[in-house]
Amino acid sequence: MRITFHGACQGVTGSQYLLEVQGNNLLLECGLFQGPREATYRRNRHPRYPVVKIGAVVLSHAHLDHCGNLPRIKAKGFAGEIHCTHATADLCTHMLRDAAHVQQKDLEFVNKIHRRKGLPLFNPLYSLEDADGILGQFVSSDYGRQFQPISGISVQLLDAGHVLGSAQELIELHENGKAYRLGFTGDLGRFDLPILKDPEILSGLDGLVIESTYGNRTHDSASEAGNELAEVISSTAEKGGKVIIPAFALERTQELLYHLAGLQDEGRIPPLPVYLDSPLAADVTEVFRNHPECYDAETRKLLDAGVRPFSFPQLTIIRGVADSMALNERHDPMIIIAASGMCEAGRIVHHLRNNIENPRNTILIVSFQAEHTLGRRIAERQPEVAIFGELLKLRARVKILNSFSGHADRNGLLEYVKRVRQNSPRLRQVFVVHGEPDQSLPFIENLKSWNAFDIRYPKEGESFVLR
Ligand SMILES: [Zn+2]
Repeated sequence: MRITFHGACQGVTGSQYLLEVQGNNLLLECGLFQGPREATYRRNRHPRYPVVKIGAVVLSHAHLDHCGNLPRIKAKGFAGEIHCTHATADLCTHMLRDAAHVQQKDLEFVNKIHRRKGLPLFNPLYSLEDADGILGQFVSSDYGRQFQPISGISVQLLDAGHVLGSAQELIELHENGKAYRLGFTGDLGRFDLPILKDPEILSGLDGLVIESTYGNRTHDSASEAGNELAEVISSTAEKGGKVIIPAFALERTQELLYHLAGLQDEGRIPPLPVYLDSPLAADVTEVFRNHPECYDAETRKLLDAGVRPFSFPQLTIIRGVADSMALNERHDPMIIIAASGMCEAGRIVHHLRNNIENPRNTILIVSFQAEHTLGRRIAERQPEVAIFGELLKLRARVKILNSFSGHADRNGLLEYVKRVRQNSPRLRQVFVVHGEPDQSLPFIENLKSWNAFDIRYPKEGESFVLR
């Protein structure tokens, strides 16, 4: 039995890990590589493993860097089942369709320039029809139920506490009378995140594949998010301004809604109108409404008390472009949540253009902003930023909250491994994935100081025997 690392190795995108048992292949994750266009385009188009030999795929969750290349492997001949939780299957429907749509729009723009310059044109990785085509291969499962995706391997999905439907995988491999229990964290969430249950602690493992996105960083406490949000909203409302929040459509948006519903219910913020201006976020929020089995006890209590985090009275969900543009004409205090999370595309860019020069407004940053994005320039409070080619003065207040994050931080990861180890006396192989070296290497150093197991930081394409 063997594992080969084909993505999110010494980096964070394109998660794909291949398990081989008795000549059968199981793919864990089928993520999209995200980065400079040309290189990632080639990388996504041509997976480096024999796709036709894959018997089945198991997914941890619906973020595109974990599921976004599924339509490509189907095009290359993958015809097996895709296993995940019920909520992940529903979320993937919207995430994959949206990915197809975004690629199409992006390439229309790029190809226009390439055509003018006589450069080669790009084809989208997949179309809307391709995205729809893969949906029939999904087989969703309850948390905790054991299933056998291919001969020789059984899998249980356990809560990862990262996004709705997210799962860790407890994988039992059998070969020539030998058994091996492998744990895969997927993206590991945090304790005390709103809406979601806490991550489970895997036990009885021989090996562990663990993410390390924030292996060297600590987050502000998740329980501070509500207080910080209340301060920002109340002070902006007093000035008569708008609060503009760029947010990713999956999870961050729903966490914000959860907090806003609670704060308004408790009277801790004024009853401002809240506009969720993103068709994808609207679809995803609908999936949240449909999967109460994923909620934690606190969210259930809130529901029992009559608070509706995803449909409270002040919330308006906007799908149409005309309704979105109508917000530009309004000058009363309000909260606008829109995608994309890094302000590179989508309706948030229009809202920023219309509101960035007014000092009464607040731009609230609640997620990581990558280099070279508009979100990063705003987070750095550059005095002028270019939006749609026009230089605008950044006069709005910029407030950054570090209490929002769906990933365990350094302390969370170390505590998690400590507890897994307590439950796993045979644990001897640990593979650290899904992290840039500046985050993963200090985490690995920490683990090495325990002298407890063989720790690897696999390179792309590197393969290990599970023993
Ligand atoms: Zn994720």
